[in-house]
Amino acid sequence: MTENSTTAQMQFLSSQQKQHFIDGKWRPALSGETIDTYNPATGKVLATLAKGSREDVDLAVQAARRAFQGPWSRFTPFERYTLMLRVCDVLDQHFDELATIESMDMGAPISRTRAMKNSLFQTIKYFASQAMNWSGTTIPNSLKGDFTTLTLKAPVGVIGSIIPWNAPLISMWWTIGGTLATGCTTVIKTAEDASLTTLRTAELLVEAGVPPGVVNVVTGLGAEAGAALAEHMDVDRICFTGSTMTGREIIKASAGNMKRIQLELGGKSPDIVFADADLEKAVPGAAMGVYNNSGQICSAGTRIFVQRGIYDEFVEKLAAFTRGIKVGDPFDPASQLGPLISGRQLERVMEYMTIGQEEGASLVTGGTRLGAELAEGYFVQPTVFSDVHNDMRIAREEIFGPVASVIPFDTVDDALRLANDTIYGLGGAVWTTNVGTMMAAMNGIQAGKIWINCYGLADPAVGFSGCKQSGYGMKGGAQHIDGFLYEKSVYINGN
Ligand code: NAD
Repeated sequence: MTENSTTAQMQFLSSQQKQHFIDGKWRPALSGETIDTYNPATGKVLATLAKGSREDVDLAVQAARRAFQGPWSRFTPFERYTLMLRVCDVLDQHFDELATIESMDMGAPISRTRAMKNSLFQTIKYFASQAMNWSGTTIPNSLKGDFTTLTLKAPVGVIGSIIPWNAPLISMWWTIGGTLATGCTTVIKTAEDASLTTLRTAELLVEAGVPPGVVNVVTGLGAEAGAALAEHMDVDRICFTGSTMTGREIIKASAGNMKRIQLELGGKSPDIVFADADLEKAVPGAAMGVYNNSGQICSAGTRIFVQRGIYDEFVEKLAAFTRGIKVGDPFDPASQLGPLISGRQLERVMEYMTIGQEEGASLVTGGTRLGAELAEGYFVQPTVFSDVHNDMRIAREEIFGPVASVIPFDTVDDALRLANDTIYGLGGAVWTTNVGTMMAAMNGIQAGKIWINCYGLADPAVGFSGCKQSGYGMKGGAQHIDGFLYEKSVYINGN
């Protein structure tokens, strides 16, 4: 395995056991306990993390509260905006290092993590622009006398952010961006399988001039550190990205002090291909809609509905495309897919390979783990199941691996009924050349993001949310910033 590393990145990885980053400083767990984090491409320990406890979380929340009430609260919107641009400069200087850390820690090919550069800076700069772009309104009133009435917006306070492992390089910014733009502060609980990019970013933020305590990072297990953050009585809002099952726990844990909550949860998104679609685009589009990031994307289009007239042709073309995908060492520039995140995830995905066949679906290609020089890592071949029914477990449950279930349908109504027959509502797509069909899908698919003749695009200015059991609360767009603010109505007596 070629772990092509920069000197700086080696310094970060080898310098010390990883600790929490609280109040601008590295701190070991108060208990002294640690957990290991693995390189998914080799199965070997990559670093040792502090095992966060309730006490560590409390320390981080206290630091975030002090920072919220300290000099940070007097930063003007323009100062926060310019600070965020400075953050971009510092992260830009370290971007190769961050991309390398991300690839080592969570296994995405270096070509993918490097390609995230534009998207990362677009996201941070979008939120920077929002720092000067939120305001209240003056409202005409019907009161007797000389009253001026208006609304003001103010930062909600300390944000608890609980993130998953599938793309921390970007996903941490959905919280950090809103935090910095509004003058809130945050404690981030990273996922135990991929904490390193977030830890290094937090350190770089302080280097860029973000005051200590504004962005804190606590590592450790979800049931301990994550639960402690969700329950903490001095956290004002929780932004959670992760599974629907954990989302339910977050809702319960937040009840104590009635935290605001924003949830981005699981999905089983439909991708509908009509007979009139341009298959030259639909086949690779739908395929990568499932396989990107080895299928570890919440809005992956894992249920591909194909109109019966082109079903066999589509399956054949999808299988051919799938066989041509290069899965391999994340640091080989030719690799399109890397390993799954962990041995646990690999086991889970392999279990679904068996379940699918037992349920009567046909395994067209894939379905096996990769051997030879990749045998120590968590690599799995991208997989196509055909003859899938929407009521099979492989079509109902989130696998979070590169597994496509191809399901036939006859009519538009048929496709929409099947597409919506799920507990989830994160994404959905349609491939067609017929405008009427596009409109029917756009209006009919119950999901927070709809793609027409494309899949998986995301723009921070557009924003998205889930529906049904995929969560709620906007990520991106102006409403995203509103989630970090509360509104007061003000009555001024002019007499
Ligand atoms: P997960 O829910 O197990 O973990 C997510 C985070 O929650 C981790 O940081 C974990 O430590 C923490 N956590 C676990 N139990 C907790 C608890 N009881 N209290 C508080 N925190 C706890 O999910 P995962 O397996 O790490 O990630 C995959 C899931 O995330 C998939 O379901 C995927 O769809 C979802 N996801 C959703 C989005 C989205 O934007 N909708 C994006 C990425 C991933």
